[in-house]
Amino acid sequence: MLGDMMGDSLTITSIMNFAKQVFSSTEIVSVTADNPRHRSTFGEAFERTGQLANALARLGCAEGDRIATLAWNDYRHFELYYAISCSGYVCHTINPRLFPEQIIYIANHAEDQWVFVDPAFVPLLEQAQAQLTSVRGYIVLTDQSNMPETSLANAMCYETFIADEPSQFDWPELDENSASSLCYTSGTTGNPKGVLYSHRSTVLHCMGTNAGDVLGLSSAEVVMPVVPMFHVNAWGTIYGAAASGSKLVFPGPKMGDGETLAALINEEQVSLALGVPTVWLALVNYLEETGTTVKSFKKAVVGGAACPLSLMKAMDKHEVSIHVGWGMTEMSPLGTYNTLLPWMHELPEDEKDKYRLKAGRLIYGVDMRIVDEAGVALPWDGEASGRLQVRGPWVCKAYYKMEASEAHLPDGWFDTGDVATIDPYGYMAITDRTKDVIKSGGEWISSIDVENAAMGHPDIVEAAVIGVPHPKWTERPLLIVVKKPDANPKKEDLLKFLDGKIARWWIPEDCVFVEEIPHTATGKVSKKDLRDQFREYSY
Ligand code: ADP
Repeated sequence: MLGDMMGDSLTITSIMNFAKQVFSSTEIVSVTADNPRHRSTFGEAFERTGQLANALARLGCAEGDRIATLAWNDYRHFELYYAISCSGYVCHTINPRLFPEQIIYIANHAEDQWVFVDPAFVPLLEQAQAQLTSVRGYIVLTDQSNMPETSLANAMCYETFIADEPSQFDWPELDENSASSLCYTSGTTGNPKGVLYSHRSTVLHCMGTNAGDVLGLSSAEVVMPVVPMFHVNAWGTIYGAAASGSKLVFPGPKMGDGETLAALINEEQVSLALGVPTVWLALVNYLEETGTTVKSFKKAVVGGAACPLSLMKAMDKHEVSIHVGWGMTEMSPLGTYNTLLPWMHELPEDEKDKYRLKAGRLIYGVDMRIVDEAGVALPWDGEASGRLQVRGPWVCKAYYKMEASEAHLPDGWFDTGDVATIDPYGYMAITDRTKDVIKSGGEWISSIDVENAAMGHPDIVEAAVIGVPHPKWTERPLLIVVKKPDANPKKEDLLKFLDGKIARWWIPEDCVFVEEIPHTATGKVSKKDLRDQFREYSY
Protein backbone atom coordinates (compact mmCIF):
# COMPACT_ATOMS: atom_id res chain seq x y z
CA MET A 1 0.00 0.00 0.00
CA LEU A 2 1.32 3.43 -0.88
CA GLY A 3 1.28 6.39 1.47
CA ASP A 4 -0.88 9.40 0.79
CA MET A 5 1.75 12.10 0.91
CA MET A 6 2.65 14.67 -1.74
CA GLY A 7 5.49 13.72 -4.04
CA ASP A 8 6.97 17.15 -4.69
CA SER A 9 10.31 17.01 -6.46
CA LEU A 10 13.42 17.55 -4.37
CA THR A 11 15.10 20.25 -6.44
CA ILE A 12 17.68 22.96 -5.93
CA THR A 13 14.97 25.33 -7.18
CA SER A 14 13.03 24.57 -3.99
CA ILE A 15 16.07 25.62 -1.90
CA MET A 16 16.33 28.85 -3.89
CA ASN A 17 12.61 29.64 -3.61
CA PHE A 18 12.67 28.91 0.11
CA ALA A 19 15.69 31.14 0.80
CA LYS A 20 14.20 33.92 -1.35
CA GLN A 21 11.02 33.84 0.68
CA VAL A 22 12.33 33.21 4.17
CA PHE A 23 15.88 34.59 4.30
CA SER A 24 15.95 37.34 1.68
CA SER A 25 17.79 39.78 3.96
CA THR A 26 20.52 37.30 4.95
CA GLU A 27 23.87 38.64 3.81
CA ILE A 28 26.45 37.36 1.33
CA VAL A 29 29.87 39.02 1.66
CA SER A 30 32.56 38.38 -0.96
CA VAL A 31 36.11 39.21 -1.85
CA THR A 32 36.39 39.42 -5.65
CA ALA A 33 39.02 40.46 -8.16
CA ASP A 34 37.21 43.80 -8.59
CA ASN A 35 36.01 44.48 -5.03
CA PRO A 36 37.72 43.71 -1.69
CA ARG A 37 34.34 43.54 0.13
CA HIS A 38 31.23 43.08 -1.96
CA ARG A 39 28.00 42.97 0.05
CA SER A 40 24.70 41.54 -1.09
CA THR A 41 21.84 39.46 0.30
CA PHE A 42 20.14 36.21 -0.66
CA GLY A 43 17.24 38.39 -1.93
CA GLU A 44 19.52 40.39 -4.25
CA ALA A 45 21.51 37.33 -5.31
CA PHE A 46 18.38 35.46 -6.35
CA GLU A 47 17.08 38.50 -8.30
CA ARG A 48 20.34 38.45 -10.23
CA THR A 49 20.05 34.66 -10.57
CA GLY A 50 16.78 35.31 -12.46
CA GLN A 51 18.56 37.83 -14.70
CA LEU A 52 21.33 35.33 -15.33
CA ALA A 53 18.82 32.59 -16.19
CA ASN A 54 17.22 34.91 -18.77
CA ALA A 55 20.64 35.71 -20.22
CA LEU A 56 21.51 31.99 -20.48
CA ALA A 57 18.20 31.31 -22.23
CA ARG A 58 19.02 34.15 -24.65
CA LEU A 59 22.25 32.29 -25.56
CA GLY A 60 20.09 29.38 -26.68
CA CYS A 61 21.18 26.95 -23.94
CA ALA A 62 19.18 23.72 -23.98
CA GLU A 63 18.16 21.34 -21.19
CA GLY A 64 21.11 19.29 -19.93
CA ASP A 65 23.74 21.56 -21.52
CA ARG A 66 26.94 21.67 -19.52
CA ILE A 67 27.92 25.22 -18.58
CA ALA A 68 31.37 25.47 -17.01
CA THR A 69 32.80 27.71 -14.33
CA LEU A 70 36.46 28.40 -13.57
CA ALA A 71 36.02 30.62 -10.59
CA TRP A 72 36.80 31.41 -6.97
CA ASN A 73 34.27 31.47 -4.17
CA ASP A 74 32.16 34.60 -4.50
CA TYR A 75 28.63 35.91 -5.06
CA ARG A 76 28.77 35.61 -8.85
CA HIS A 77 29.75 31.95 -8.59
CA PHE A 78 26.86 31.52 -6.13
CA GLU A 79 24.47 33.04 -8.70
CA LEU A 80 25.85 30.69 -11.38
CA TYR A 81 25.28 27.63 -9.19
CA TYR A 82 21.58 28.39 -8.90
CA ALA A 83 20.84 29.93 -12.32
CA ILE A 84 22.48 27.05 -14.23
CA SER A 85 21.05 24.15 -12.22
CA CYS A 86 17.57 25.61 -11.72
CA SER A 87 17.28 26.37 -15.47
CA GLY A 88 17.79 22.65 -16.14
CA TYR A 89 21.42 22.95 -17.30
CA VAL A 90 24.39 21.35 -15.58
CA CYS A 91 26.81 23.51 -13.60
CA HIS A 92 30.23 22.08 -14.35
CA THR A 93 32.75 23.46 -11.88
CA ILE A 94 36.31 23.10 -13.18
CA ASN A 95 39.33 23.18 -10.89
CA PRO A 96 41.60 25.94 -12.22
CA ARG A 97 44.56 24.48 -10.32
CA LEU A 98 44.71 21.53 -12.69
CA PHE A 99 47.24 21.86 -15.44
CA PRO A 100 46.04 22.85 -18.92
CA GLU A 101 45.99 19.34 -20.44
CA GLN A 102 43.65 18.13 -17.69
CA ILE A 103 41.36 21.16 -18.06
CA ILE A 104 41.18 20.59 -21.81
CA TYR A 105 40.43 16.90 -21.31
CA ILE A 106 37.71 17.65 -18.76
CA ALA A 107 35.99 20.44 -20.73
CA ASN A 108 35.99 18.35 -23.91
CA HIS A 109 34.80 15.23 -22.13
CA ALA A 110 31.95 17.20 -20.56
CA GLU A 111 31.27 18.96 -23.90
CA ASP A 112 30.97 22.30 -22.14
CA GLN A 113 29.09 24.93 -24.15
CA TRP A 114 29.94 28.14 -22.34
CA VAL A 115 32.59 28.94 -19.75
CA PHE A 116 32.24 31.52 -16.98
CA VAL A 117 35.72 32.52 -15.97
CA ASP A 118 37.34 34.61 -13.26
CA PRO A 119 39.66 37.29 -14.73
CA ALA A 120 42.62 35.50 -13.09
CA PHE A 121 42.10 32.42 -15.28
CA VAL A 122 41.58 34.22 -18.60
CA PRO A 123 45.23 33.70 -19.69
CA LEU A 124 44.92 29.97 -18.91
CA LEU A 125 41.87 29.67 -21.17
CA GLU A 126 43.43 31.82 -23.88
CA GLN A 127 46.18 29.21 -24.15
CA ALA A 128 43.75 26.32 -24.09
CA GLN A 129 40.91 27.65 -26.22
CA ALA A 130 42.13 26.32 -29.58
CA GLN A 131 41.76 22.82 -28.13
CA LEU A 132 38.39 23.31 -26.45
CA THR A 133 36.22 21.70 -29.07
CA SER A 134 32.70 22.33 -27.76
CA VAL A 135 32.93 25.78 -26.14
CA ARG A 136 30.92 28.49 -27.89
CA GLY A 137 32.05 31.46 -25.84
CA TYR A 138 33.36 32.85 -22.57
CA ILE A 139 31.85 35.16 -19.95
CA VAL A 140 34.37 36.92 -17.71
CA LEU A 141 33.24 37.34 -14.10
CA THR A 142 33.67 41.07 -13.71
CA ASP A 143 32.16 44.42 -14.73
CA GLN A 144 32.82 46.44 -17.84
CA SER A 145 35.35 48.76 -16.20
CA ASN A 146 37.49 45.78 -15.10
CA MET A 147 37.06 43.70 -18.24
CA PRO A 148 40.50 42.50 -19.37
CA GLU A 149 41.71 42.66 -22.97
CA THR A 150 41.29 39.12 -24.18
CA SER A 151 41.63 36.94 -27.25
CA LEU A 152 38.93 34.57 -25.95
CA ALA A 153 36.30 33.95 -28.61
CA ASN A 154 32.88 35.53 -28.04
CA ALA A 155 34.08 37.05 -24.77
CA MET A 156 31.52 38.95 -22.75
CA CYS A 157 31.59 40.67 -19.41
CA TYR A 158 29.29 39.13 -16.78
CA GLU A 159 27.71 42.36 -15.54
CA THR A 160 26.92 43.52 -19.07
CA PHE A 161 25.70 40.03 -19.96
CA ILE A 162 22.96 40.12 -17.30
CA ALA A 163 22.38 43.90 -17.02
CA ASP A 164 19.34 44.32 -19.28
CA GLU A 165 17.58 41.12 -18.31
CA PRO A 166 14.49 41.04 -16.08
CA SER A 167 14.85 39.28 -12.73
CA GLN A 168 11.56 37.48 -13.28
CA PHE A 169 12.19 34.02 -14.73
CA ASP A 170 9.83 31.16 -15.33
CA TRP A 171 11.81 28.37 -13.61
CA PRO A 172 11.07 24.97 -15.19
CA GLU A 173 9.47 22.14 -13.18
CA LEU A 174 12.39 19.73 -13.04
CA ASP A 175 12.42 16.01 -12.44
CA GLU A 176 14.28 15.55 -9.16
CA ASN A 177 16.56 13.00 -10.80
CA SER A 178 17.71 15.42 -13.48
CA ALA A 179 21.39 16.35 -13.48
CA SER A 180 22.27 19.54 -11.63
CA SER A 181 26.05 19.77 -11.47
CA LEU A 182 29.22 18.04 -12.51
CA CYS A 183 32.61 17.80 -10.84
CA TYR A 184 35.62 15.80 -12.04
CA THR A 185 37.89 14.04 -9.61
CA SER A 186 41.52 13.23 -10.32
CA GLY A 187 41.70 11.19 -7.13
CA THR A 188 41.74 7.99 -9.17
CA THR A 189 44.17 6.48 -11.62
CA GLY A 190 43.76 7.28 -15.31
CA ASN A 191 41.94 10.31 -16.68
CA PRO A 192 39.87 12.50 -14.35
CA LYS A 193 36.40 11.08 -13.85
CA GLY A 194 33.14 13.02 -13.81
CA VAL A 195 30.60 12.80 -11.01
CA LEU A 196 27.19 14.00 -12.19
CA TYR A 197 25.05 15.11 -9.24
CA SER A 198 21.26 15.28 -9.43
CA HIS A 199 18.85 17.74 -7.85
CA ARG A 200 17.65 14.95 -5.58
CA SER A 201 21.11 13.88 -4.42
CA THR A 202 22.01 17.52 -3.76
CA VAL A 203 18.89 18.21 -1.70
CA LEU A 204 19.25 15.01 0.32
CA HIS A 205 22.94 15.74 0.98
CA CYS A 206 21.93 19.25 2.06
CA MET A 207 19.34 17.92 4.51
CA GLY A 208 21.67 15.21 5.80
CA THR A 209 24.61 17.51 6.39
CA ASN A 210 22.55 20.32 7.91
CA ALA A 211 21.54 17.99 10.78
CA GLY A 212 22.47 18.97 14.33
CA ASP A 213 25.22 16.41 14.83
CA VAL A 214 26.72 17.33 11.49
CA LEU A 215 27.24 20.93 10.28
CA GLY A 216 24.14 22.08 12.17
CA LEU A 217 23.84 25.22 10.05
CA SER A 218 21.31 27.79 11.21
CA SER A 219 20.40 31.46 10.82
CA ALA A 220 22.61 32.17 13.85
CA GLU A 221 25.66 30.87 12.05
CA VAL A 222 28.01 32.88 9.81
CA VAL A 223 29.58 30.43 7.40
CA MET A 224 32.81 30.86 5.44
CA PRO A 225 33.48 28.12 2.87
CA VAL A 226 37.22 28.23 2.31
CA VAL A 227 36.92 24.91 0.52
CA PRO A 228 36.67 25.97 -3.13
CA MET A 229 33.37 26.04 -4.99
CA PHE A 230 35.16 24.14 -7.77
CA HIS A 231 35.69 21.33 -5.29
CA VAL A 232 32.46 19.34 -4.77
CA ASN A 233 30.16 22.35 -4.44
CA ALA A 234 32.19 23.72 -1.52
CA TRP A 235 31.21 20.57 0.41
CA GLY A 236 27.54 21.45 -0.13
CA THR A 237 27.54 24.66 1.92
CA ILE A 238 26.23 26.74 -0.99
CA TYR A 239 22.95 24.87 -0.64
CA GLY A 240 23.11 24.25 3.11
CA ALA A 241 23.53 27.93 3.95
CA ALA A 242 20.57 28.91 1.76
CA ALA A 243 18.38 26.19 3.26
CA SER A 244 19.18 27.31 6.80
CA GLY A 245 19.59 31.07 6.35
CA SER A 246 23.24 31.24 7.36
CA LYS A 247 25.12 34.38 6.35
CA LEU A 248 27.80 33.48 3.78
CA VAL A 249 31.30 34.92 3.65
CA PHE A 250 33.33 34.18 0.51
CA PRO A 251 37.12 34.69 0.49
CA GLY A 252 37.39 34.83 -3.33
CA PRO A 253 41.01 34.43 -4.46
CA LYS A 254 42.30 34.84 -0.88
CA MET A 255 41.70 31.28 0.33
CA GLY A 256 45.24 30.53 1.46
CA ASP A 257 45.88 33.96 2.94
CA GLY A 258 45.84 33.84 6.74
CA GLU A 259 45.63 37.63 7.06
CA THR A 260 42.54 37.97 4.84
CA LEU A 261 40.85 34.99 6.48
CA ALA A 262 41.43 36.49 9.94
CA ALA A 263 40.15 39.89 8.77
CA LEU A 264 37.02 38.35 7.25
CA ILE A 265 36.37 36.32 10.40
CA ASN A 266 36.63 39.37 12.63
CA GLU A 267 34.81 41.86 10.40
CA GLU A 268 31.95 39.54 9.50
CA GLN A 269 31.79 37.56 12.77
CA VAL A 270 32.36 34.22 11.04
CA SER A 271 31.42 31.38 13.40
CA LEU A 272 31.95 28.30 11.22
CA ALA A 273 34.37 27.79 8.36
CA LEU A 274 35.38 24.84 6.22
CA GLY A 275 38.66 23.92 4.54
CA VAL A 276 41.59 21.55 4.17
CA PRO A 277 44.27 21.42 6.93
CA THR A 278 46.68 23.58 4.89
CA VAL A 279 44.25 26.50 5.08
CA TRP A 280 43.92 26.31 8.85
CA LEU A 281 47.69 26.08 9.21
CA ALA A 282 47.99 29.35 7.29
CA LEU A 283 45.44 30.97 9.60
CA VAL A 284 47.00 29.67 12.81
CA ASN A 285 50.46 30.78 11.71
CA TYR A 286 49.15 34.26 11.02
CA LEU A 287 47.36 34.41 14.39
CA GLU A 288 50.49 33.28 16.21
CA GLU A 289 52.81 35.63 14.36
CA THR A 290 50.64 38.70 14.88
CA GLY A 291 48.86 37.97 18.15
CA THR A 292 45.51 38.41 16.38
CA THR A 293 42.47 36.74 17.95
CA VAL A 294 39.35 35.35 16.28
CA LYS A 295 36.69 35.47 18.99
CA SER A 296 33.62 34.75 16.86
CA PHE A 297 35.18 31.66 15.24
CA LYS A 298 33.89 28.54 17.02
CA LYS A 299 34.00 25.64 14.56
CA ALA A 300 36.52 24.78 11.85
CA VAL A 301 35.45 21.88 9.68
CA VAL A 302 38.50 20.04 8.41
CA GLY A 303 38.30 17.56 5.57
CA GLY A 304 39.99 16.39 2.43
CA ALA A 305 42.92 15.02 4.44
CA ALA A 306 43.69 13.81 7.94
CA CYS A 307 43.94 16.55 10.56
CA PRO A 308 47.30 16.71 12.39
CA LEU A 309 47.01 16.72 16.19
CA SER A 310 49.29 19.78 16.35
CA LEU A 311 46.80 21.76 14.24
CA MET A 312 43.90 20.71 16.44
CA LYS A 313 45.81 21.79 19.54
CA ALA A 314 46.83 25.11 17.99
CA MET A 315 43.21 25.85 17.10
CA ASP A 316 42.10 24.78 20.63
CA LYS A 317 44.29 27.57 22.00
CA HIS A 318 42.19 30.04 20.03
CA GLU A 319 39.02 28.32 21.24
CA VAL A 320 38.22 27.11 17.74
CA SER A 321 36.99 23.55 17.83
CA ILE A 322 38.06 21.40 14.90
CA HIS A 323 35.54 18.94 13.50
CA VAL A 324 36.93 16.39 11.09
CA GLY A 325 34.75 15.35 8.18
CA TRP A 326 35.42 12.69 5.58
CA GLY A 327 34.05 12.27 2.12
CA MET A 328 34.80 12.25 -1.56
CA THR A 329 33.77 13.94 -4.79
CA GLU A 330 31.87 10.70 -5.50
CA MET A 331 29.88 11.27 -2.26
CA SER A 332 28.70 14.88 -2.77
CA PRO A 333 31.05 14.82 -0.66
CA LEU A 334 30.21 14.16 3.00
CA GLY A 335 29.96 10.65 4.47
CA THR A 336 31.10 11.02 8.06
CA TYR A 337 31.49 13.90 10.49
CA ASN A 338 33.09 14.11 13.90
CA THR A 339 31.00 15.31 16.81
CA LEU A 340 31.81 13.80 20.19
CA LEU A 341 29.15 11.88 22.07
CA PRO A 342 28.24 13.71 25.30
CA TRP A 343 30.19 11.34 27.60
CA MET A 344 33.35 11.71 25.55
CA HIS A 345 33.71 15.33 26.68
CA GLU A 346 34.49 14.00 30.16
CA LEU A 347 37.41 11.82 28.98
CA PRO A 348 41.00 12.73 29.82
CA GLU A 349 42.45 15.07 27.18
CA ASP A 350 44.59 12.53 25.30
CA GLU A 351 41.78 9.97 25.08
CA LYS A 352 39.37 12.63 23.91
CA ASP A 353 41.88 13.72 21.25
CA LYS A 354 42.03 10.18 19.91
CA TYR A 355 38.29 10.34 19.20
CA ARG A 356 38.40 13.89 17.87
CA LEU A 357 41.06 13.01 15.30
CA LYS A 358 38.96 10.24 13.75
CA ALA A 359 36.95 10.87 10.59
CA GLY A 360 33.73 10.68 12.60
CA ARG A 361 30.41 8.91 12.56
CA LEU A 362 28.13 8.20 9.61
CA ILE A 363 25.73 10.87 8.52
CA TYR A 364 22.16 9.61 8.30
CA GLY A 365 21.55 8.84 4.62
CA VAL A 366 24.84 7.07 3.91
CA ASP A 367 25.84 3.53 4.77
CA MET A 368 29.40 2.22 5.13
CA ARG A 369 31.22 -1.04 5.75
CA ILE A 370 34.79 -2.23 5.95
CA VAL A 371 35.72 -5.47 4.22
CA ASP A 372 38.77 -7.71 3.94
CA GLU A 373 40.44 -8.60 0.63
CA ALA A 374 37.85 -11.34 0.03
CA GLY A 375 35.03 -8.83 0.46
CA VAL A 376 33.94 -10.18 3.85
CA ALA A 377 32.59 -7.53 6.21
CA LEU A 378 34.84 -6.80 9.19
CA PRO A 379 33.67 -5.96 12.73
CA TRP A 380 33.32 -2.42 14.04
CA ASP A 381 35.79 -3.05 16.86
CA GLY A 382 38.25 -0.24 16.25
CA GLU A 383 40.95 -2.84 15.49
CA ALA A 384 40.08 -4.54 12.21
CA SER A 385 41.13 -2.46 9.28
CA GLY A 386 39.69 -2.98 5.80
CA ARG A 387 38.59 -1.44 2.53
CA LEU A 388 36.03 1.25 3.17
CA GLN A 389 32.90 0.96 1.05
CA VAL A 390 29.81 3.18 0.97
CA ARG A 391 26.38 3.48 -0.55
CA GLY A 392 23.46 5.86 -0.40
CA PRO A 393 21.38 8.37 -2.37
CA TRP A 394 24.19 10.93 -2.61
CA VAL A 395 26.90 8.43 -3.65
CA CYS A 396 27.50 8.23 -7.42
CA LYS A 397 26.42 4.97 -9.04
CA ALA A 398 28.68 5.39 -12.11
CA TYR A 399 31.13 7.91 -13.49
CA TYR A 400 29.86 10.27 -16.16
CA LYS A 401 29.95 8.69 -19.64
CA MET A 402 31.80 5.62 -18.33
CA GLU A 403 30.46 2.11 -18.69
CA ALA A 404 31.96 0.58 -15.59
CA SER A 405 34.56 1.24 -12.97
CA GLU A 406 36.33 -1.13 -10.64
CA ALA A 407 35.19 0.95 -7.70
CA HIS A 408 31.50 0.33 -8.43
CA LEU A 409 30.90 -3.16 -7.10
CA PRO A 410 28.30 -5.60 -8.47
CA ASP A 411 26.41 -5.61 -5.14
CA GLY A 412 25.77 -1.85 -5.32
CA TRP A 413 28.53 -0.65 -2.97
CA PHE A 414 31.20 1.85 -3.93
CA ASP A 415 34.82 1.13 -2.96
CA THR A 416 36.32 4.40 -1.75
CA GLY A 417 39.99 3.40 -2.14
CA ASP A 418 40.44 4.28 1.53
CA VAL A 419 41.33 1.78 4.25
CA ALA A 420 39.76 2.31 7.66
CA THR A 421 38.81 1.03 11.07
CA ILE A 422 35.42 1.64 12.68
CA ASP A 423 35.10 1.55 16.46
CA PRO A 424 32.11 0.23 18.45
CA TYR A 425 30.70 3.78 18.74
CA GLY A 426 30.74 4.10 14.95
CA TYR A 427 33.78 6.39 14.67
CA MET A 428 35.62 5.67 11.45
CA ALA A 429 39.34 6.37 11.12
CA ILE A 430 41.25 6.36 7.84
CA THR A 431 44.41 4.25 8.20
CA ASP A 432 45.67 3.95 4.62
CA ARG A 433 44.75 4.30 0.97
CA THR A 434 44.66 1.65 -1.77
CA LYS A 435 44.36 4.24 -4.57
CA ASP A 436 47.69 5.29 -5.97
CA VAL A 437 47.39 9.06 -5.66
CA ILE A 438 48.85 11.68 -3.35
CA LYS A 439 46.90 14.52 -1.79
CA SER A 440 48.83 17.71 -1.30
CA GLY A 441 47.15 20.79 0.15
CA GLY A 442 43.76 19.26 -0.71
CA GLU A 443 44.61 18.64 -4.38
CA TRP A 444 45.47 15.36 -6.07
CA ILE A 445 48.83 14.43 -7.55
CA SER A 446 48.97 11.37 -9.80
CA SER A 447 51.93 9.31 -8.64
CA ILE A 448 51.82 7.38 -11.92
CA ASP A 449 52.25 10.54 -14.01
CA VAL A 450 55.22 11.62 -11.88
CA GLU A 451 56.74 8.12 -12.17
CA ASN A 452 56.28 8.05 -15.95
CA ALA A 453 57.94 11.44 -16.28
CA ALA A 454 60.87 10.32 -14.11
CA MET A 455 61.29 7.04 -16.01
CA GLY A 456 62.07 9.12 -19.09
CA HIS A 457 65.46 9.91 -17.55
CA PRO A 458 68.22 7.85 -19.21
CA ASP A 459 69.99 7.01 -15.90
CA ILE A 460 66.97 5.40 -14.23
CA VAL A 461 65.98 1.74 -14.15
CA GLU A 462 62.83 2.18 -12.11
CA ALA A 463 61.05 5.00 -10.32
CA ALA A 464 58.22 5.01 -7.80
CA VAL A 465 56.48 7.87 -6.04
CA ILE A 466 54.73 7.76 -2.67
CA GLY A 467 53.16 10.42 -0.47
CA VAL A 468 55.00 11.26 2.77
CA PRO A 469 53.88 13.55 5.60
CA HIS A 470 54.56 17.26 5.18
CA PRO A 471 53.97 19.94 7.84
CA LYS A 472 52.36 22.47 5.48
CA TRP A 473 50.78 20.46 2.64
CA THR A 474 49.83 17.37 4.76
CA GLU A 475 51.39 15.14 2.12
CA ARG A 476 54.07 15.65 -0.55
CA PRO A 477 55.46 13.25 -3.16
CA LEU A 478 58.79 11.50 -2.59
CA LEU A 479 60.61 10.11 -5.63
CA ILE A 480 62.26 6.72 -5.06
CA VAL A 481 64.70 5.65 -7.73
CA VAL A 482 66.78 2.65 -8.78
CA LYS A 483 69.60 4.01 -10.93
CA LYS A 484 71.38 2.18 -13.74
CA PRO A 485 74.48 0.32 -12.46
CA ASP A 486 76.97 2.45 -14.37
CA ALA A 487 75.16 5.78 -13.89
CA ASN A 488 75.50 8.28 -11.12
CA PRO A 489 72.74 10.88 -11.53
CA LYS A 490 72.43 13.67 -8.95
CA LYS A 491 69.18 14.16 -7.03
CA GLU A 492 68.90 17.77 -8.14
CA ASP A 493 69.31 16.83 -11.81
CA LEU A 494 66.61 14.18 -11.60
CA LEU A 495 64.16 16.60 -10.00
CA LYS A 496 65.06 19.33 -12.50
CA PHE A 497 64.44 16.83 -15.30
CA LEU A 498 60.75 16.77 -14.27
CA ASP A 499 60.35 20.51 -14.73
CA GLY A 500 58.06 21.18 -17.70
CA LYS A 501 56.94 17.54 -17.89
CA ILE A 502 54.43 17.71 -15.05
CA ALA A 503 52.75 20.56 -13.17
CA ARG A 504 55.39 22.38 -11.13
CA TRP A 505 53.63 21.71 -7.80
CA TRP A 506 53.71 17.99 -8.57
CA ILE A 507 57.53 17.88 -8.53
CA PRO A 508 58.77 16.03 -5.43
CA GLU A 509 60.96 17.97 -2.98
CA ASP A 510 63.28 15.03 -2.58
CA CYS A 511 64.55 11.93 -4.28
CA VAL A 512 66.09 8.87 -2.62
CA PHE A 513 68.12 6.13 -4.28
CA VAL A 514 67.45 2.48 -3.42
CA GLU A 515 68.93 -0.80 -4.60
CA GLU A 516 65.55 -2.30 -5.33
CA ILE A 517 61.88 -1.34 -5.38
CA PRO A 518 59.50 -3.96 -3.85
CA HIS A 519 56.96 -5.63 -6.15
CA THR A 520 53.73 -7.55 -5.62
CA ALA A 521 53.18 -11.10 -6.83
CA THR A 522 51.71 -9.71 -10.05
CA GLY A 523 54.80 -7.61 -10.70
CA LYS A 524 53.37 -4.21 -9.75
CA VAL A 525 55.28 -1.83 -7.52
CA SER A 526 54.14 -2.54 -3.98
CA LYS A 527 53.28 0.92 -2.69
CA LYS A 528 52.21 -0.57 0.60
CA ASP A 529 55.71 -2.03 1.18
CA LEU A 530 57.33 1.19 0.01
CA ARG A 531 55.21 3.21 2.42
CA ASP A 532 56.23 0.82 5.22
CA GLN A 533 59.87 1.16 4.22
CA PHE A 534 59.67 4.97 4.34
CA ARG A 535 57.38 5.20 7.37
CA GLU A 536 59.92 7.29 9.25
CA TYR A 537 60.56 9.67 6.36
CA SER A 538 58.91 13.08 6.51
CA TYR A 539 59.64 16.47 5.01
P1 ADP B 1 37.44 15.94 -0.67
O1 ADP B 1 38.80 16.57 -0.85
O2 ADP B 1 36.34 16.93 -0.74
O3 ADP B 1 37.37 15.06 0.52
P2 ADP B 1 38.16 14.24 -2.94
O4 ADP B 1 37.28 13.38 -3.77
O5 ADP B 1 39.06 15.18 -3.63
O6 ADP B 1 37.17 15.00 -1.96
O7 ADP B 1 39.05 13.36 -1.98
C1 ADP B 1 38.52 12.29 -1.25
C2 ADP B 1 39.63 11.55 -0.55
O8 ADP B 1 40.36 12.44 0.31
C3 ADP B 1 39.17 10.44 0.33
O9 ADP B 1 38.90 9.25 -0.39
C4 ADP B 1 40.37 10.29 1.27
O10 ADP B 1 41.41 9.56 0.68
C5 ADP B 1 40.82 11.73 1.45
N1 ADP B 1 40.18 12.30 2.64
C6 ADP B 1 39.08 13.07 2.70
N2 ADP B 1 38.78 13.40 3.97
C7 ADP B 1 39.70 12.81 4.75
C8 ADP B 1 39.93 12.72 6.17
N3 ADP B 1 39.17 13.35 7.04
N4 ADP B 1 40.99 11.99 6.58
C9 ADP B 1 41.81 11.35 5.73
N5 ADP B 1 41.63 11.39 4.39
C10 ADP B 1 40.61 12.09 3.90
